[in-house]
Amino acid sequence: MPDINNNENNIPFSNLEKITDGKILKLDIEQRSVKYLITDSRRPIIHSESVFFAIKGNNHDGHDYIPSMINNGINQFIIEDKTAIKHFESNDFNVCLVDSSIKALQDLASYKRSLTKSPIIAITGSNGKTIIKEWISQLLYDSEKVIQSPMSYNSQIGVPISVWGIESFHTVGIFEAGISQPGEMKKLEKVIKPTHGIFSNIGSAHESNFHSIDQKAAEKAILFQNCERITYCKDHEIIHNALINYDKSKLNGWSAIDESSNYFVAYDKTEDNFTNITIHHHKKKSIFTVKFTDPGGLENITHGLVCLLDMGYKSDYLKNQLPRIKEVDMRLTIKRGINQSFIIDDTYNNDMAGLEAALSRVNQFPNVDKRIVVLSDIQQSAATKEKLYEQVSNLLESFKVEMVIAIGIEITQYLNYKSGEKISFQNTNEALNNFAWDEIENSLIVVKGGRVFQLEKIVRRLEKKIHGTTLEINLSALTNNLNFYRSKIKPGVKLMVMVKALAYGSGAVEIGKILQFHRVDYLAVAYPDEGVNLRRNGIYLPIMVMNPSPESFDMLHRYDLEPEVYSLSFLKKLDTYTKEEKKSFKVHIKLDTGMHRLGFNTEDLKKVIEIISANKYIRVAAAFSHLAGADSFSHNEFSKQQNNQFGKMSEVLIDGLGHGIIRHLCNSAGIIRFPEFQYDMVRLGIGLYGVEVTEMEQKNLLPISKLKTIVSQVKEIKKGQTVGYGRAGVAQKDMKIATIAIGYADGFSRIFSQGNGSVYIKGVKAPVFGNVCMDMTMVDVTSIEDIKEGDEVVVFETTEQLLELAEAGKTIPYEILTNVSERVKRVFQSI
Ligand SMILES: *Cc1c(COP(=O)(O)O)cnc(C)c1O
Repeated sequence: MPDINNNENNIPFSNLEKITDGKILKLDIEQRSVKYLITDSRRPIIHSESVFFAIKGNNHDGHDYIPSMINNGINQFIIEDKTAIKHFESNDFNVCLVDSSIKALQDLASYKRSLTKSPIIAITGSNGKTIIKEWISQLLYDSEKVIQSPMSYNSQIGVPISVWGIESFHTVGIFEAGISQPGEMKKLEKVIKPTHGIFSNIGSAHESNFHSIDQKAAEKAILFQNCERITYCKDHEIIHNALINYDKSKLNGWSAIDESSNYFVAYDKTEDNFTNITIHHHKKKSIFTVKFTDPGGLENITHGLVCLLDMGYKSDYLKNQLPRIKEVDMRLTIKRGINQSFIIDDTYNNDMAGLEAALSRVNQFPNVDKRIVVLSDIQQSAATKEKLYEQVSNLLESFKVEMVIAIGIEITQYLNYKSGEKISFQNTNEALNNFAWDEIENSLIVVKGGRVFQLEKIVRRLEKKIHGTTLEINLSALTNNLNFYRSKIKPGVKLMVMVKALAYGSGAVEIGKILQFHRVDYLAVAYPDEGVNLRRNGIYLPIMVMNPSPESFDMLHRYDLEPEVYSLSFLKKLDTYTKEEKKSFKVHIKLDTGMHRLGFNTEDLKKVIEIISANKYIRVAAAFSHLAGADSFSHNEFSKQQNNQFGKMSEVLIDGLGHGIIRHLCNSAGIIRFPEFQYDMVRLGIGLYGVEVTEMEQKNLLPISKLKTIVSQVKEIKKGQTVGYGRAGVAQKDMKIATIAIGYADGFSRIFSQGNGSVYIKGVKAPVFGNVCMDMTMVDVTSIEDIKEGDEVVVFETTEQLLELAEAGKTIPYEILTNVSERVKRVFQSI
């Protein structure tokens, strides 16, 4: 587990001069280090340790965004245009001038890379990079702490951003690299410096930036020039030739044809659509079973298996792990569309490497009737627009795309696609209004565009409406909220995020992954099971467990979970256990400063110190306490007393133990109202999920969840008739009633009965009529016109609706969120 006191990898801004070969123009905040690298002005991580890289592109100049970054509170900058210095008049900026901001970004990542000795796997090739990367990381979940590039971050900017994430605790790194012109791979090689390489395959697309496919393969092979081992399939002649000049002892070529290969592979499809992959190596053979049969997928998993076997992982271990591999990020990026279609949703950015990556997944859907690509203007520098779009056209042709829906002024003008139909629109709204989207059927639709085009609107139009009750979670809104709280915490203060109770109802694993990607320092759960679930799904961040029981010691240890220690009897049991089993634990000491829930009192501390000092297996990671009334002014005095008490008690612990510990006191409300109580870490909860309980900063947060259901039936009823159990709804006049598909078993409390609670249909409030049933509820829709079966019903979407419901239920939003039962499907969106 990461030692979070370890700051060896902190890079002070002042070191950038040396690392980037630049010139520091301003160093007003000398001690400030560099933690977050911002290249996209639309999605900055607002933090005192962020650095904005102003990058000059062809159509876009990052320097233009400096004033808005300053407004947002960013105060460290890398610039390549000297005249931008005019923005930094006041005395609170760190600024470094470099020749190229992209190169500076790469230099910085390359420096970070040089600090680790762990093996680093790099993957390149035309298709499959992202899938191989994900699969390898899933295969290694149980034995390694893996850092991998998020999504398909494989460009000149994406690669350094990914590599920058390497920390001293990572034991394996996996990064993908993509290129679109000669000269690029050399730079990526310098950043990744892989020890192991995988060359996945090479497409036949002719790209105008390369003379030939061989030249392209040779350029890609540059990634491996300093690798110890290179895994590839010898049966691809072009790849074999591209590697021919490499030292033979480095080449790990496998084959499905040549039995004399180091690894010889045979595939057998089983009756139930599984495949047995037999890998022969030095007269030994191992059989691996996977639950798919498509040739592309089989080749990809073989790359992963052969690479890992070659690195020394045991075949039994890999066999055990194999059932775990998932089709990559299905829930986030491949969506079910209308009329038996599938959507590959890649509305994040649009450069050539990304386009190729998205198109490469087309082959996973051999059974669709038609391949459609919705594409915005490409954001990439190129010799000329004609050349760029010629390249796009070649790429589309090589993936046999039958229809292109081009959106944007440039693509409309320059894309000349002859191998299929081309339909052009100037912008997204025009496309939405003038194309018969509903007629698309049994197709694969790749939607790929720069964020400014908002192609997510098209995705939403094409998505199959999921019937029944769903909780939609907006991961971008969550990121917004995270960034807001980050801007509120002081430099050096760490961030623990509470993901207890399914991350306040929203889905622990998905939220955990996003938080891991955004590099929070710690997670916390209530029960050991919750921690185990996170570990089994690839979360390697340190995790505190607040309600551990002695029965779970084995489990806590096995999954590297850090228990809260809150009583002497618990501590004594842990003491005995650790000594008997010789197992080490990191623990968090809970101090009771006035909440009177769990925790030690002052008079217990002597004993706590005595026990822990005499036990070499127990290490105190942190001491913490919880504020009982941080959200309310009326408890200010009490909160201050709690803080004083916490200060004193934690001092006693530190003195007694003789080493530093992380101290933390603030919850979400505390972060906002008591910046002076931040100590070494804060614990963010409800605020991340969109509710600012002090109400002072609600405007800066976005709601992250929408609970919705559908109308199952609409009925007219006559005056005097009654509705539902206990005949509790009595019609005082002729009315119209809708039965909706949510009940108390879904988390829509029975307390909302008889008009206490309401839902929204077509934006109009519909109060509950009669009693809420287990799976259904009747609401009054007399005033809503044209209401029909299947209409969407919003239970809550805005913060006001959530608060209104909490009030109607005589409770707090925490309970409304965590009550949404597990049977309600969670749908994650990142838009
Ligand atoms: C749940 C919890 C938090 C988070 O509280 P919010 O009000 O949701 O920010 C912090 N600390 C402890 C100990 C908790 O149990």
